[in-house]
Amino acid sequence: MGTVSSPATREVRPTDQPPEGATDPGARPVLSFAAKRRGKPPVHFADLATSERRDLLTSLGVPAFRSDQLARHYFMHDTADTTVMSDLPKNLHSTVSEKVLPSLVTPVLRQTADGGTTLKDLWRLYDGAQVESVLMRYPQRTTLCISSQAGCGMACPFCATGQMGLTRNLSAAEILEQVRLARKACTNGDLAGGPTRLSNVVFMGMGEPLANWKALKQTLYTLVSEPPEGFGMSARGITVSTVGLVPGIGKLADLGLPVTLAVSLHAPDDGLRDELIPINSRWKVGELLDAARSYFVHTGRRVSIEYALIKDMNDQPWRAQLLADELNARGKGWAHVNPIPLNPTPGTIWTASTKSAQNLFIQTLRDSGIRTTLRDTRGADIDGACGQLATAWEERKVKLKSSSIVDGEEVQE
Ligand code: SF4
Repeated sequence: MGTVSSPATREVRPTDQPPEGATDPGARPVLSFAAKRRGKPPVHFADLATSERRDLLTSLGVPAFRSDQLARHYFMHDTADTTVMSDLPKNLHSTVSEKVLPSLVTPVLRQTADGGTTLKDLWRLYDGAQVESVLMRYPQRTTLCISSQAGCGMACPFCATGQMGLTRNLSAAEILEQVRLARKACTNGDLAGGPTRLSNVVFMGMGEPLANWKALKQTLYTLVSEPPEGFGMSARGITVSTVGLVPGIGKLADLGLPVTLAVSLHAPDDGLRDELIPINSRWKVGELLDAARSYFVHTGRRVSIEYALIKDMNDQPWRAQLLADELNARGKGWAHVNPIPLNPTPGTIWTASTKSAQNLFIQTLRDSGIRTTLRDTRGADIDGACGQLATAWEERKVKLKSSSIVDGEEVQE
């Protein structure tokens, strides 16, 4: 173990203020695993395995061979619009669009940032619940950050989504629709720089993906299945992030897909993490890192450790050293730390570390042999953290730099 220097003099705690975005000043984080809404979205083609797709069509009086045609349209051409499916007889259009490819995800609002290379979309689901996704173009890749739940039950006090609580789990098709629409946006050239291909998907939007296991599993299989069964994406381009549902990490490893696991750690000591990430009361830092290491052993995929740097809360050099020691104690080279400056909320305890604290934190990790890369803060000027756009929209406080206006709602420039 390395030397742990003395703690910084000033240290704020997550309990010093109500959680970010809380409406009640006395609010405290409350974990919830049960959804407020129990209704299920209509069944959709993308929810089903190949044989089930054929069964659905047959039950509707549509010949089973049409399943392959629809799969090609949906997974290879990213279209769910029956009116452009020239090989589908007109008399089947309404049955297919109502019962096989029902509209599950409707655009509400789009914000752009970073010179048009970042698009943040707010979507309305069939029951009025809202979720977000963010599409980001980089020189070598284009990445979509998707939501797996409406709201979230994990109650992290620095996160706007956490304060909404869990509305409900998304179905696999609701998650896959975010991907299909992003693929379409890429080929349509909606991102600055012209048409491109979606290469990466990260489950870092609203929700804890491992808390919606059944839909996550179906989504992952469909993302990587060869077309026309699925989108044919590389598993290596997919990242599933978790705040620490240890049994779910084991289930993910057992799938045998080489997707990347990202652990949102944010604190290396239980004292702070119990307050910062309420699920830490169930599974402690040690158990979580053991599960993450075991994921690496199972899959050969290096684990990403996500660490939001929050000023005077978790950004002290001694915590960087403790993190390095905890990782090194479990072996070399199995984890990669990604510090990310928290989206600043001036005047609150939830604000970004200073540049010097950030640099010292990173240097301390690197000096201990830990691979460390500062993540960029894409969309920091457009309510960049998960849940912020939905919250702002609800409060009708949205101020847009540029936008597309949909759903008949007037939005101020
Ligand atoms: S940070 Fe992630 S897990 Fe925590 S409340 Fe927000 S969405 Fe949920």
